[in-house]
Amino acid sequence: METHPYRVVITDCDHGSIEEEKEEFRQMGAELILAQVQGEKDLIRVCKDADGLLNQYALLTRKVLENLPKCKVIARYGVGVDSVDLKAATDLGIIVANVPDYCMDEVAGQTIAMILTLTRKTAFFDRKVKSGEWDFHLGIPIYRIKGKTLGLIGCGKIGLEVARRISAFGVKVMTFDPYLEKAPEGIELKDFDTVLKESDFISIHCPLNDSTRHLIAEKEFKKMAKKPLLINTSRGPIVNEKALIQALEEGLLSGAGLDVLEKEPPDSQSPLLKMENVVLSPHVGFYSVESISELKRRTAKNVSDVLVGTWPGSVVNRDVRGKTRESISD
Ligand code: NAD
Repeated sequence: METHPYRVVITDCDHGSIEEEKEEFRQMGAELILAQVQGEKDLIRVCKDADGLLNQYALLTRKVLENLPKCKVIARYGVGVDSVDLKAATDLGIIVANVPDYCMDEVAGQTIAMILTLTRKTAFFDRKVKSGEWDFHLGIPIYRIKGKTLGLIGCGKIGLEVARRISAFGVKVMTFDPYLEKAPEGIELKDFDTVLKESDFISIHCPLNDSTRHLIAEKEFKKMAKKPLLINTSRGPIVNEKALIQALEEGLLSGAGLDVLEKEPPDSQSPLLKMENVVLSPHVGFYSVESISELKRRTAKNVSDVLVGTWPGSVVNRDVRGKTRESISD
């Protein structure tokens, strides 16, 4: 019988194939098991001898983690680590790793696509032409993109990529980001109200947390003096959807491009589904064949790095330093 130095379990994943993961662990001679389980009992049963886990949605509670005596690392597919009890992992000396930057190109592309779709009215005209109406007058007015101002709410990894791309269209970029000490090159750092007031396009790229939930609501829409387009490819609840619908109905906005909504999928009665100046996509911003392949490869690498005694690319529970089960070289 073949013996392996390590046993690695994928608790669950919905990516179709696990070729990238197999390749990573084949190289180090680790046994890889795709469990596809949820629920504490099943997770403990399949993971109890694992040296490392890859995890997508299955909840790794304190009880589960306390029953994994050999587990040294949990690598989450993606950015968020809500599925893992981080405090328990840290107490037990288990490193939790994630991949925070596998889809910047994709989300930035989605944002630019929405800005272009809404300004050039491509989705609108597509619907018209296919229903037999060949008449550009149906879409007037259309305004020139060059010379407009894009306001970014949050200018981290994705915001910066959006800024780089839109600059090629001759668009000026400003940002409100309270955690930036200085403006990134080519971008003006402004206060929140100035960005709301002076932007022709507003695009949201901050994280969702207690201070950004409903950051954009009725009061903010009223400050948007240029009737901008609002793009949200970040998280739905950053925008108060009721207030957004009202702002669109009252003409405070020229349109909206939404990859994320407060409720996903939306109710079939949502007025957003009927608005000609609203472009929707089903939270697809992260996705491309290449981004998912990269995500799988880097998630597997996070596990293999720990098993061979090095820190993974991105550690979430940094407090684990000094008490890891595997000795890790700095
Ligand atoms: P990031 O951490 O690199 O950047 C976030 C920026 O937001 C930081 O510069 C931070 O200072 C800023 N920020 C924090 N609080 C703020 C506030 N109150 N107001 C304004 N700015 C604030 O993150 P990122 O990689 O650029 O990702 C941004 C967001 O994109 C993520 O939080 C995630 O919600 C979303 N996202 C969506 C998809 C998708 O499929 N649509 C995929 C990946 C990420």
